[in-house]
Amino acid sequence: MSTKSVTVIGLGPMGQAMADAYLDGGYEVTVWNRTPGRADRLVARGARRAPTVEAALTANDLVVLSLTGYDAMYAVLEQAPSAALAGRTVANLTSDTPEKARQAAAWLAERGAVQITGGVQVPPPGIGKPGASTYYSGPEDAIEAHRSALEVLTDIDHLGEDPGLAALFYQIGMDMFWTGILSYVHAQAVAEANGISAERFLPNAVKTMDFRYFLEFYAPRIAAGNHEGDVDRLAMGVASMEHVLHTVEASGVDASLPAAVLDVFRRGVAAGHGQDSLTSLIEVLRR
Ligand code: NDP
Repeated sequence: MSTKSVTVIGLGPMGQAMADAYLDGGYEVTVWNRTPGRADRLVARGARRAPTVEAALTANDLVVLSLTGYDAMYAVLEQAPSAALAGRTVANLTSDTPEKARQAAAWLAERGAVQITGGVQVPPPGIGKPGASTYYSGPEDAIEAHRSALEVLTDIDHLGEDPGLAALFYQIGMDMFWTGILSYVHAQAVAEANGISAERFLPNAVKTMDFRYFLEFYAPRIAAGNHEGDVDRLAMGVASMEHVLHTVEASGVDASLPAAVLDVFRRGVAAGHGQDSLTSLIEVLRR
């Protein structure tokens, strides 16, 4: 087998970007996708189309999976005899829950394969570009053995051996990302309802979404269990969110998102944290 060769299974936007990066890097790339036509462009660029999942698995030591979720992984891999997995390293860059990542690692180990779990932190255009990074977890030796191939895609942020760890960091990040980006979309809907275009609002949005100062201020206090209301108080947060809610409603925009935030703030006050910092909500949110 060539040392610069890899199999990519799953050719959604992410898998396509990965296969492109390998082709750009001079790798022999074998591809397989449930909908075969998605491989056409890559085959025209020099990729090999595996006729079956078994052929895709046995073509290379390193198999990169980029699928919608782990249910799709089983749907694909169960098409091949177990023996086709023996000796493979599966870089599973499919995002799913930590529990499913651990189960998949055990399922693959039973078949003689090693899973490296990955959580990619950039969208497809970021693959192969400087500064891109992926959370990885799994055996150090497997990651080291395939370091150069993995680094074709992104930098490696190896978090530890537990196969669920990369998935856990990824999902915690997505918890922030989806709520954060939805807050932008919601705010822009309010802006537009008031005649403020996305271009006009952009510099303000960028400034407001830069939470670095707050994260660096709060993190050591959270770590120390210090929720003192010396800088911000939850009672002030309730008053502020009431103003936001009224502004949103007056703009004719769906208010379910700020109403949910206000509900959490009010529960914090009801639990006795009105004079404490916003971070005291961690005590309320933790069930
Ligand atoms: P898609 O959901 O578009 O990828 C779908 C891939 O999974 C396709 O190849 C699809 O095949 C295949 N698939 C889905 N269900 C099945 C099934 N039952 N059997 C066989 N194949 C199946 O996702 P992306 O390409 O966007 O992303 C891939 C992974 O990367 C996801 O886990 C995603 O969360 C993660 N990710 C994505 C990012 C992004 O911005 N796109 C950013 C970071 C991570 P078919 O073509 O036949 O439908």
